[in-house]
Amino acid sequence: MGKLYLYNSLTRKKEEFKPIKKGQVGMYTCGPTVYWYQHIGNFRTMLLNDFLRRTLGFLGYKVKHVMNITDVDDKTIKASQKEGITLKALTSKYEKIFFNDLLELNILRPTIVSSAVDSIPEMVEMIKKLIDKGYAYKSEDGVYFSISKFKNYGKLAQLEKSKKTKARVRSDEYGKENSQDFALWKFYTPEDGDVFWETEIGKGRPGWHIECSAMGISNLGESFDIHTGGVDLLFPHHTNEIAQSETATGKKFVNYWIHGGLVTMKEGKMSKSLGNILTLDELKKQGYESVHYRYYCLQTHYRKPLAFTFEGLDAARSAYERVRRKVIEMKMTKHKGSDKSEEYRGEFEKALYDDMNIPAALQVFLKTLDDDAFESKKRIEMIEHMDSVLGLGISEMKEEKIDVPEEVQKLVDSRERLRKNKMWAESDIIRQRILEKGYRILDTPHGPKVEKA
Ligand SMILES: [Zn+2]
Repeated sequence: MGKLYLYNSLTRKKEEFKPIKKGQVGMYTCGPTVYWYQHIGNFRTMLLNDFLRRTLGFLGYKVKHVMNITDVDDKTIKASQKEGITLKALTSKYEKIFFNDLLELNILRPTIVSSAVDSIPEMVEMIKKLIDKGYAYKSEDGVYFSISKFKNYGKLAQLEKSKKTKARVRSDEYGKENSQDFALWKFYTPEDGDVFWETEIGKGRPGWHIECSAMGISNLGESFDIHTGGVDLLFPHHTNEIAQSETATGKKFVNYWIHGGLVTMKEGKMSKSLGNILTLDELKKQGYESVHYRYYCLQTHYRKPLAFTFEGLDAARSAYERVRRKVIEMKMTKHKGSDKSEEYRGEFEKALYDDMNIPAALQVFLKTLDDDAFESKKRIEMIEHMDSVLGLGISEMKEEKIDVPEEVQKLVDSRERLRKNKMWAESDIIRQRILEKGYRILDTPHGPKVEKA
């Protein structure tokens, strides 16, 4: 195993990855709030998790990947009231859509999916600890974490370097002792309807930040290797996760914080208020497949912002479709040549070891695919192996069987007979008639192939 370097947001440096337990990785991902469709920016972050998990797997690590589902918060409660259904009915609906979208994007399901609603006791336990230790206090509307008590509060977000945030942290606001103190537990108000839990710390529901700390620790232990998320979660969400977790356990919460770049649109950030939200459904309505978006994301390094354009998506689709045609052709034709597996595997791994440089790995993959001096059976094995990281579904790529109407099939057969007799002009006339019926003929080494025109 070579040395894997990952950019750690804690130190703002590429660091050699050293797991707590040799050969094993505990990895936590902030999951979706299931109150509506996730947009393609959310899915870019999900793709980052997937690339990372697959990369670690490729390099020989055994990965335990945990993701939460936020199925209780302000947004989910409001949306369920608006749709006139129970919280559970709403969140189940959008959770199902979310996992279906992951499947279509070829994203591996996390090893453990943990629901916030099912983890209330773990959260209450942690909040009790924080109160006992004097880091949390009750105000009239909830239990808050006192950030001024936590010495390294701004470390991850490097707050000490940002005067603006520091000023905001200092200002005071009613109810809370400090405007940046965040709610661990929100006391019940009538707007919450029938959503509440009667607990030792009061009747109410959890704040968002405590979820991830409680579920991360209960599934991966008090300290674990990797925490991922979009860069927009770095502050305050991840900053707060560190504060409450490290206060509760007295241990370092996470060793490597990996943050992904956001998807930007012409108008700037993708947001509901700007009306520029794109969902996978919308892309599919416009004739794209989910895998085209996956290919699009493969082409940009995970830390860089991705400026989405439909021209870019078109280019990704063409590139993906070319790969598909080439793979199918290779599976049907034998190319003689040498075995270059080791050479290409080395190049591919080198890209991954360098802060998971997936765009570079994709280039190695394409070079391998197109190297006709590389014997085809071994070459297919190698690109399928690389695809365990890229996730393009190479092993499932095959010729699509289509139903050809009998009259078209008869024309195809008669054209074959004409061609065998070298009657090219006549066979071309039949090709034209087939085209007029909406089908196209491709002559392959295995005989004619019919496609919808
Ligand atoms: Zn989280």
